[in-house]
Amino acid sequence: MRHRLGPTLITGPEIQARIQELAAVISLDYADRDLLLICVLKGAAIFWADLCRALPIPCQSDFVAMESYGVGSFPLSEPRFTKAADVALADRDILIVEDIIDTGHTGARLRELFRAASPRSLAMCALLDKAERRQVSTPIEYCGFVIPNAFVVGYGLDYAQQYRHLAHIAVLEGPPEM
Ligand code: 5GP
Repeated sequence: MRHRLGPTLITGPEIQARIQELAAVISLDYADRDLLLICVLKGAAIFWADLCRALPIPCQSDFVAMESYGVGSFPLSEPRFTKAADVALADRDILIVEDIIDTGHTGARLRELFRAASPRSLAMCALLDKAERRQVSTPIEYCGFVIPNAFVVGYGLDYAQQYRHLAHIAVLEGPPEM
């Protein structure tokens, strides 16, 4: 079956409203701290851009990219950064900004890699949580939306590099095997 864009799961205005709520909580939690947002490329780029502009507190940002586990495939080896952070991470208050936590492998691995850099604190902010697909437990301190088990695109999330530009999150019909 060829894939096609399916129904809207989360509208653009719903995403923007939730980001304002997340930013309000984060700005309280990180007031007077040394907040470093780490955006996980490429999927989190649009979420990061809206989230950091909604934060009324000082923060810095950096970007990482990970080797992929592939969607649904079990990891054969522990993925590494294909692009590591440029700034020093020791004693920083790191908030990882992710698009989606699915099986949890990527989130757990990110935490492991960042913990090794001795930050003062480490937390995860993920726009989407596909909780029922979890294989590895990994905390999400700031979660946008818990979603059902479907392959979704839009608002930074892609299928074959398409659909990232959509302002909303939609279900992809006839998607790859998960
Ligand atoms: P994990 O299974 O390790 O939690 O997630 C691995 C990666 O798979 C995510 O960072 C994301 O890039 C991708 N992924 C998981 N579920 C979806 C989905 O529904 N849509 C898209 N576009 N990517 C997904």
